[in-house]
Amino acid sequence: MGGIPELFGSMVFDDRVMKATLSANVYQSLRKTIDEGLALDVEVANAVAEAMKDWAVSKGVTHFTHWFQPLTGITAEKHDSFIAPSPDGGVIMEFSGKELIKGEPDASSFPSGGLRATFEARGYTAWDPTSYAFIKGTTLCIPTAFCSYTGEALDKKTPLLRSMEALNRQALRILRLFGNDEVKRVSASVGPEQEYFLVTREMYDQRPDLRFTGRTLFGAPAPKGQQMDDHYFGVIKPRVAAFMAELNEELWKLGILAKTEHNEVAPAQHELAPIYTTTNVATDHNQLTMEIMQRVAAKHGLVCLLHEKPFAGVNGSGKHNNWSIATDSGQNLLSPGDTPGENVQFLLFLCAVIKAVDDFQDLLRLATATAGNDHRLGANEAPPAVVSIFLGDELNAVLEAIENDEPYVGAEKAQMRLGVDVLPPFSRDTTDRNRTSPFAFTGNKFEFRMLGSSNSIACVNIMLNTAVAESLKIFADRLEGAEDFEQTLHEMIKRTIRDHRRIIFNGNGYDDAWIEEAVEKRGLLNYRTTPDCMPHLLDDKNVRMLTSHGVFTLSELKSRTEIMLENYCNVVEIEAATMREMALSQILPAVESYVAELAAAAAAKRSVAPSLACAYEAETVVRLSELADRIFQASEELGEAMASLEQASDVVERSRKICDEVLAKMDALRTPADEAETLTSRKHWPFPTYGDLLFGVD
Ligand code: ADP
Ligand code: MG
Repeated sequence: MGGIPELFGSMVFDDRVMKATLSANVYQSLRKTIDEGLALDVEVANAVAEAMKDWAVSKGVTHFTHWFQPLTGITAEKHDSFIAPSPDGGVIMEFSGKELIKGEPDASSFPSGGLRATFEARGYTAWDPTSYAFIKGTTLCIPTAFCSYTGEALDKKTPLLRSMEALNRQALRILRLFGNDEVKRVSASVGPEQEYFLVTREMYDQRPDLRFTGRTLFGAPAPKGQQMDDHYFGVIKPRVAAFMAELNEELWKLGILAKTEHNEVAPAQHELAPIYTTTNVATDHNQLTMEIMQRVAAKHGLVCLLHEKPFAGVNGSGKHNNWSIATDSGQNLLSPGDTPGENVQFLLFLCAVIKAVDDFQDLLRLATATAGNDHRLGANEAPPAVVSIFLGDELNAVLEAIENDEPYVGAEKAQMRLGVDVLPPFSRDTTDRNRTSPFAFTGNKFEFRMLGSSNSIACVNIMLNTAVAESLKIFADRLEGAEDFEQTLHEMIKRTIRDHRRIIFNGNGYDDAWIEEAVEKRGLLNYRTTPDCMPHLLDDKNVRMLTSHGVFTLSELKSRTEIMLENYCNVVEIEAATMREMALSQILPAVESYVAELAAAAAAKRSVAPSLACAYEAETVVRLSELADRIFQASEELGEAMASLEQASDVVERSRKICDEVLAKMDALRTPADEAETLTSRKHWPFPTYGDLLFGVD
């Protein structure tokens, strides 16, 4: 292997390759399209396609695909080969600008939530030149947006690009007001930290629950869990290290900036963090990272679990969405500057985020809502389902001083006069301590921690970008019309802090007292489950905001609500069916055969020595028989709860019933089954235990 600099991006048609393979003119036009969103003309597209194909073919590529992100949350591709017949009976390798720019996959099998009537099955994919094409195996992958024939988004990338545009538009207005005329573009950056579990393939294959649902539906706790804290940042085991090394190499080839890796809190849990990049590219890269994690794990005889809660009783997996806004000249707008002017600007952007998070708590919450993540949010390990912002003591004191028109007493107790234009020297370290906040300011960025490990990061960033664009728009409207800019600015910052103070919370987010205070005293929202929050996507204020920035149409929002709820129903229904099958066809027969064995043993022993008590056999037979009856009964009741779903008139009601009735019956089935596991001989138990799974990788 060559060095990492040679390896890095070697499978990406990136700027280096473009420069080397395109004529100066073509390169310039393409750059303009990428940087400024200008349309690409046909000749340029043809030249780019030709260069892309030649580059790809030189690396052994035979096919191309428009790579897109339908609302299933994973990626989709349909492969076409480059071959075209030549007159002499052979073939030539061909790829036109038209094929690069637009594709027409049959869209009928992707969820559309009623957006596309089935007779109008055609959808089209459109090249997103802001995300580089890359090679996977023998296929050239072209990142694309996926729309219905009438132009409605059927994917996650389209609204994400629209939200980036909305944020750019409004942020530029603000920067212009501060006299900044140079900046051409503002965009959000994201660094998503990805958590995951690794288990052995052999054990995975023996667990129908893992295979069908990605999480364990049964399993008594192992004697050892995460109580020793000996896994977090611990030494990485050889097999895991080998996996990580190959994973890094594969990611680097694709130009993904994999940077940090370590063990996480739970046994068998790990994390990977890339260096941040623009939201759009970060989203594509995170989708690819999840895919490649699974592929590389398979090569090492492992399975990578991306489910939010694969094991009860130990931590689940999340994804921390580190988010900031930066200009094309590299200025981070969430970083306090060195001069007073930069500080006011920073405070204004900070206020925009605070206002956005308070006004649209529900959108941030529901962008993370899935059946899997419902097991995590609000358990004592992940942020609560209540959205709040952590600012840290220092910044909090600054905001308080502004709100009350008081001088700020800084950390060294030095008094400084604080208009809006002075910020004390700001130490980033003091802000990074709180791990329990859903939305924490960490010095020059916000870390949003509610996202589940398997979620696409697109939805959260769509909501964040657009909600902040909305705050900035309101600010810009006011400031542009202001007679006294300074005065209006000062008043506006002060008022925003006062109006939205309730969303700021610097204490322990895991504390029950906080949830009570948040809901009772502060009036914050606490949507505990997916069915609780998802319908609020269609609340008037949300529809108005999202449509006014052109990020979604009303019908797109309706379709998304429907798809997310359908997905929730499907996931839980598959889990419920899997549980019943495991209980009836594996657990009960195992318990039964062990009971028979014990009974036979007791009878045999007594035939030799009639006075023997055979207490172990007798008591275990009784307890297991009782448990078997409970398991059977609970399976029946779960079946009935599932059958009653047919009465639900629509997906909202169905998801409600699933949440209230089916999940409760699933819990009721798990309890006796897990107890039976602790009493049944290992030889009879039909699948690997928690101990096997969590400590099985060496
Ligand atoms: P921690 O575990 O302390 O949260 P990590 O180093 O694991 O820190 O992850 C931090 C993530 O934040 C990385 O992906 C990093 O690239 C990203 N990040 C750093 N600065 C910014 C920024 N300005 N904007 C967005 N993401 C950032
Ligand atoms: Mg981290």
